[in-house]
Amino acid sequence: MAYKSINPYTNELIKEYPNTTDEELEKTLSSAEALYQDWKNISITERAQQLHNVAAGIRSNASELAKACTIDMGKLYRESVGEVELCAVIADWFADHGEELLKPEKVDTIATGEAEILHQATGVIVMVEPWNFPYYQIMRVFAPNFMVGNPVILKDASNIPTSAQLFCDIIAKSGAPKGALTNLFLSYDQVTKAIEDPRVQGAALTGSERGGISVAGAAGKNLKKNTMELGGMDAFIVLGDANMNDVNDIAWRARLYNAGQVCTSSKRFIVMDSVYDEFVAALKKNFAAVKPGDPLNSDTTLAPMNTKNAKEKLQKQLDEAIDNGAQVVYGNEPIDLPGQFFKPTILANITKDNPAYHTEFFGPIASVYKVHSEQEAINLANDNPYGLGGIVFAGDADHGAEVAAKVETGMVFVNNFMASLPELPFGGVKLSGYGREMSHLGAMAFTNDKLVVKAQKPDMTNLAGGLIATDPEK
Ligand code: NAP
Repeated sequence: MAYKSINPYTNELIKEYPNTTDEELEKTLSSAEALYQDWKNISITERAQQLHNVAAGIRSNASELAKACTIDMGKLYRESVGEVELCAVIADWFADHGEELLKPEKVDTIATGEAEILHQATGVIVMVEPWNFPYYQIMRVFAPNFMVGNPVILKDASNIPTSAQLFCDIIAKSGAPKGALTNLFLSYDQVTKAIEDPRVQGAALTGSERGGISVAGAAGKNLKKNTMELGGMDAFIVLGDANMNDVNDIAWRARLYNAGQVCTSSKRFIVMDSVYDEFVAALKKNFAAVKPGDPLNSDTTLAPMNTKNAKEKLQKQLDEAIDNGAQVVYGNEPIDLPGQFFKPTILANITKDNPAYHTEFFGPIASVYKVHSEQEAINLANDNPYGLGGIVFAGDADHGAEVAAKVETGMVFVNNFMASLPELPFGGVKLSGYGREMSHLGAMAFTNDKLVVKAQKPDMTNLAGGLIATDPEK
């Protein structure tokens, strides 16, 4: 597999990187393992300070990072700037809260002695990440594991090698010790080899089911813990009493942000019949108003897709949807620019037997569905193999939250755009994966939650079958 940075706006090959050799992989595993052992003797307070330094290093290199990421995968420059700042926010948050999140927990027990759970490091973690958020995806795994004391080896997507390397170099220069985060240009076989290695204790993947099945398969075969952040077909439910100004202002952004290449993009708009026509008209108007162009320019509002392959795959899916009866309400026309642009498109009339009903469009295509009752909206949202996020717009936020509770996904936002912040758990159910990143749950993804029960001396008074010693006072 070739690691190549190709600018999707100009189609220019920027740089190609050689694959990592097996010797380099071995060296990385051994320095990561050495750091894991060293970190056992280093206080978490020291790591917190280093992580704050990492946040500061990211901030002081923000423009270079943002530009590299826009050139690698086409994201609008202002969105790249936002992503870089979010990474610094995540690093600062785990630095500020890591010690509290990971402190030992007392357990109330009838066992003799005092029981507590220690949240300890387990060892080296392999992370496999996608191209759509070149920095944020790394930070979601790196920051909590840095506080825990688990070194991380990164295999990033093969189309963003420049930004992956730059981010890891800046983190190292900002004071993260050698081995804390190492970017390698690994083949799929080397990813499996790394996961099989006894020094590696876990694997985290964000990406497609194809990648997930392979990495989770290797982890399962070797009995290693793993987390899977996979695809989504998030529903955006609009109830009849929703504030339509807010809905119309947010719906197009929720689909077109990052050129529609977000796992939690709203991909299915499920709209009550009373407001359906108004909704579709506004979505059409907003899709028609975007301006494709150089993603580094501040007046561009539609970015190119990340690669030629991604664009071709999306067009194939769209053609298949239309062949199976979907109606094009807007779009499906070429954009006359050399970059990998895809015209925002709206599809209606998607029946259950259409592949588009249950496959993810990872680009700027919105599917709209008209429903006649709230229950029909919930049933349609749940009639899907994925379960990542979702949005509900309702006149009354409490009622919106009741609907949100019935949607089978890992995250739902009511009357607002979805936001990803370090204190909020991120992850899904069904084919969207398992485990959570960020928050207290993400901090514990790869910990050894070790029980220690401390008695001053043995107490045999209540010995039941020789198996449990209980405290007669309790
Ligand atoms: P992908 O093909 O699975 O790629 C993701 C990463 O997995 C890349 O680094 C890729 O490397 C690697 N990979 C793929 N197959 C592999 C294998 N057999 N062994 C080892 N590594 C492998 O995913 P994508 O299509 O680029 O990304 C888009 C998908 O990710 C969408 O479905 C999207 O919804 C999902 N996603 C989910 C989340 C979330 O948090 N739930 C966030 C963002 C994206 P190469 O580049 O070298 O192939």
